[in-house]
Amino acid sequence: MQLLPDVSVVSKPALLDQPSDALHSWFGERGQPLLRVKQIRRRVLAGRAESFEQMSDLPKEIRGELAEHFTPLGTHIERHLIASDDTHKLLLKLHDGRTIECVLIQEAPRRTACISTQVGCGMGCVFCASGINGVVRNLTTGEILEQLVRLRNLTPVDGRLSNIVVMGMGEPLANLDSLIEALEIAGHKDGLGIGARHITISTVGLPVKMRALADLGKQYHLAVSLHAPNDLLRTRIVPTNSKTGIDDILAAADYFFEKTGRQVTYEYVLLGGLNDSPREARELATLLQGRKAHVNLIPFNKVEGLPYLSPGTDAQTVFIDTLRRAGISVKVRKRKGSEIDAACGQLRRQVEQELAVAAI
Ligand code: SAH
Repeated sequence: MQLLPDVSVVSKPALLDQPSDALHSWFGERGQPLLRVKQIRRRVLAGRAESFEQMSDLPKEIRGELAEHFTPLGTHIERHLIASDDTHKLLLKLHDGRTIECVLIQEAPRRTACISTQVGCGMGCVFCASGINGVVRNLTTGEILEQLVRLRNLTPVDGRLSNIVVMGMGEPLANLDSLIEALEIAGHKDGLGIGARHITISTVGLPVKMRALADLGKQYHLAVSLHAPNDLLRTRIVPTNSKTGIDDILAAADYFFEKTGRQVTYEYVLLGGLNDSPREARELATLLQGRKAHVNLIPFNKVEGLPYLSPGTDAQTVFIDTLRRAGISVKVRKRKGSEIDAACGQLRRQVEQELAVAAI
């Protein structure tokens, strides 16, 4: 059963989605100085205000009028889960009733926000929960920013986010313009103060967009989800590979490195019995030989209803050793918050299923 979004709550337009021009005119019509626009944005982004009432530096009547027309935050926290390792996961409801996930991972001294860029995902990687029902829509700039604001607001008052990983639901490079706009605002000192070097964008591998990202000349860190060392196997695991192919993706990654000087990370989800044998490890080593690259191995995080297996510990050890012996820099990603289903898309799916059962 397909769950229809709940649109019973009709919300006001969210502040972070309003273009500056529109807000300038809004304040202008009320005889207010234009600096008000900067002021209210700063209060939400840097100052943690979640209501206009909290913006005590604004005249009272203006606060009241703002509240009649806009909402400082347009998302609603539908679920908030906290794991024993202090990983927080939020399921946010958007103005159209759709839901997205974002995660706060805390490992002192870092506080990392993992954010989504789309409702669902259109890439169809066979092991991933986010893409099971396809993509619904791109997130707006404001919706991307709000995830950061909501996660930052969970940290202590003197705390801040140190890093962003764009590894939640969706394909970031399929929504590149809104993502970059949001990251630019987040990077600003009046925003969240997180510089490009502390931001990782993970992509399934869309060569044209990878080149476009490189051409921005920013210091973002790029992670490419490779998951297989040859086209035959990769197309089975990552269907979009039939259109792109590994060669084009690696060429675009090399271009990114040339343009930015930033070493590219290759992500490789280890799926038991599918892509985790020593043969694939050797093939991967050969593929990446001579490249300044880093491999991030991700043991598959089980998704209910999907037939894939996590890799055995022996297979993992052999895989890592094979890459290391070939001189490839490799790490295994630590599992964070696994008891709250931190892999992207799993919580949303679980809640949708619960609601679907309740609706029968
Ligand atoms: N669309 C982007 C972002 C996806 S999420 C991309 O493809 O890179 C970030 C990483 O988590 C990707 O490498 C993705 O393949 C991986 N991933 C998704 N579901 C997973 C699961 N159940 N277990 C382990 N890794 C998973």
